[in-house]
Amino acid sequence: MLGLSGLNAQTTAQLLSDPTVKAALEAAKRNEPHFIEEQIRVCEIPAPPFKEEVRAAEFERIFKQLGLKDVRIDKSGNVIGVRPGLVPHPNLLFEAHLDTVFPEGTDVRVKRNGDTLTAPGIGDDCRGLAVLMSVIRALDEARVQTPGTITFVADTGEEGLGDLRGTKELFQTTLRGQIDKFVSVDGTGLRITNVGVGSYRYRATFKGPGGHSFGAFGLGNPIQAMGRAIAKIDEFEVPATPKTTFNVGRVGGGTSVNAIPFESWMEVDMRSSDRDSLETVHAKYRKAVEAAVEEENKRWKGRGPVSVDNALVGYRPAGSTPADSAIVKTAVEVTRAFADSAPLGEGSTDSNVPMNLGIPAITIGGGGQGSASHPLDESFNSKDSYLGTQRALLLAIALAR
Ligand SMILES: [Zn+2]
Repeated sequence: MLGLSGLNAQTTAQLLSDPTVKAALEAAKRNEPHFIEEQIRVCEIPAPPFKEEVRAAEFERIFKQLGLKDVRIDKSGNVIGVRPGLVPHPNLLFEAHLDTVFPEGTDVRVKRNGDTLTAPGIGDDCRGLAVLMSVIRALDEARVQTPGTITFVADTGEEGLGDLRGTKELFQTTLRGQIDKFVSVDGTGLRITNVGVGSYRYRATFKGPGGHSFGAFGLGNPIQAMGRAIAKIDEFEVPATPKTTFNVGRVGGGTSVNAIPFESWMEVDMRSSDRDSLETVHAKYRKAVEAAVEEENKRWKGRGPVSVDNALVGYRPAGSTPADSAIVKTAVEVTRAFADSAPLGEGSTDSNVPMNLGIPAITIGGGGQGSASHPLDESFNSKDSYLGTQRALLLAIALAR
């Protein structure tokens, strides 16, 4: 390993002129074709929601082969490997997610057409996984000795009802209290996400005895109780900034026009990029559902009372990393070394979890060009994608100190 020399550099420009850093960036460019092949190879290992084990086992092998220390898989299936610095802190967590949105049995073979690759998950997030591997390899080939430590993770449960479960586990248990900064590489392009949109999702089921509409008239009615709840939800006032939203997305229940239903249900989604605004709308929702049931039962004098099972089916914490924070400023500066602009944006990604805890966190794209993520014909164009790898590499070096 080389000494600290260039890594005492204060600015991105100084880092870029450091011979060790230069060598690492050159390695990343040189190795890009190899890691495009790796991107294809790992993408062809299925990783459906809640079933990431096979791809995880492969990453355990890859992390070991790339020379990371203390390689292990935690309770949530996250694959963890450490690249020690001269000192344990700052400890930068650098991750990409293993899981896809596609169910078991999906054809995950990658089709090639020139620079364009098409397959479910090829960009989101096989691109991030490829960048992770390439960054580790480049640091190793150029013998970069960072002052701080980098903990690499291929994590689980980022998508959909996975609800960020892998990253939640890292911060709640596996690496609790050990992480100082966080970067996740998710998808394509060179964007920087510094605002994490949080969400609550509920499925509320209203129940009563039910009966004949004429013969049993006078009983509490689960659909009418739900109607009361929906009317209350519709009246919620929420701030436009930070953008906060609510939606009753699906409803169901009842068996016949002439029967008092024994059951009704609704699915509700609430979102905000602001933690307090999300908690406020969430509290209003819970109160509205309870009040609706109470009113329905009062209306019918407690005959055939209605009850509710208000089940939380999804939670993503909200948070943000200020645009003027050190990590965002560094990311913008580093990105400008590879692109004309470095736009900031919002999203719902693994960095929501550390953002919510007040730990400096961002999500970056892995370079190249992608189509929208999640369709079966998701595509990735690898033209100049090495710039994304180099950006991630330089950012890792800049933050691990
Ligand atoms: Zn993703």
